Amino acid sequence: MNYPEFLRTAMVAAHREAGKGHVADYIPALAGAVPDAFGMALATVDGELHGVGNWKEPFSIQSISKLFSLALVLAEGGNALWTRVGREPSGTPFNSLVQLEAERGIPRNPFINAGAVVVTDRLQTLTGDASRSVLGFLRAESGNPGISIDPAVAASEAAHGHRNAALAHFIASHGNLDNTVAVVLEEYFAHCSISASCGDLALAGRFLASHGVRADGTRMLSSTEAKRVNAVLLTCGTYDAAGEFAYRVGLPAKSGVGGGVLAILPGRAALCAWSPALDRAGNSVGAVAAIEAFTTATGLSIF
Ligand code: GLN
Repeated sequence: MNYPEFLRTAMVAAHREAGKGHVADYIPALAGAVPDAFGMALATVDGELHGVGNWKEPFSIQSISKLFSLALVLAEGGNALWTRVGREPSGTPFNSLVQLEAERGIPRNPFINAGAVVVTDRLQTLTGDASRSVLGFLRAESGNPGISIDPAVAASEAAHGHRNAALAHFIASHGNLDNTVAVVLEEYFAHCSISASCGDLALAGRFLASHGVRADGTRMLSSTEAKRVNAVLLTCGTYDAAGEFAYRVGLPAKSGVGGGVLAILPGRAALCAWSPALDRAGNSVGAVAAIEAFTTATGLSIF
């Protein structure tokens, strides 16, 4: 497969769309991002790495970190997590509070903010340092020790994180946090504030294309667990637009409000696109257009 040519095709499609929408300014440290910046990278299971545009430029990974924190919890702690968080699409925005009351502090899935708070709490209990374990995983898989947590973004999230604080307190009121709200929020904001590039993230997501096997050849998840993570990504990874994303793209994926989207081609590759301007659901307009164009041109999707 001539991946470089297909990536160029995707970039052309993305350039028609990139910049439509709005950068995430509810986190003030992200408000200065260039709306139509664009990059895309693909890492195959047999070691190829290709990129177009600004694929080596770091950006704030935001909710893409939720994919890694979930995988680390499943790898370290098995299935116990699933009594504390569900696996159904929410149909509500990523930072919504409404379902938590009716569902007694059990978040709908691990990829909305409420669910990620519970996953972060579990990872903190299992490792003693949730954000460092996500960071260490990204560094190891990408081979890039320069990946880091951006302290300005983390501080900005903390200063403006009233909704996330409300979610965490509500979950704690139902007895679904083991650590203090302050510790869980600090760790959650820290892993959301990691800066990494499309190339880094494609390499770091490749274990899900390899059915759970890491870059060094060790097994992180069983193939059944990797299948399950991919399934939850497909149904919940792009929030209340997951149906539309599956319809257009046909791949499991995780988005973040920094404008990144990391998609998995099971058995084949991981694909990351980035462009900061977001649609109303909080997914990057340009990155989704690029990945849609890629799957359409190559015929590579899970369907
Ligand atoms: N850190 C962001 C938040 O908690 C992540 C949201 C996202 O990327 N969808 O609001």
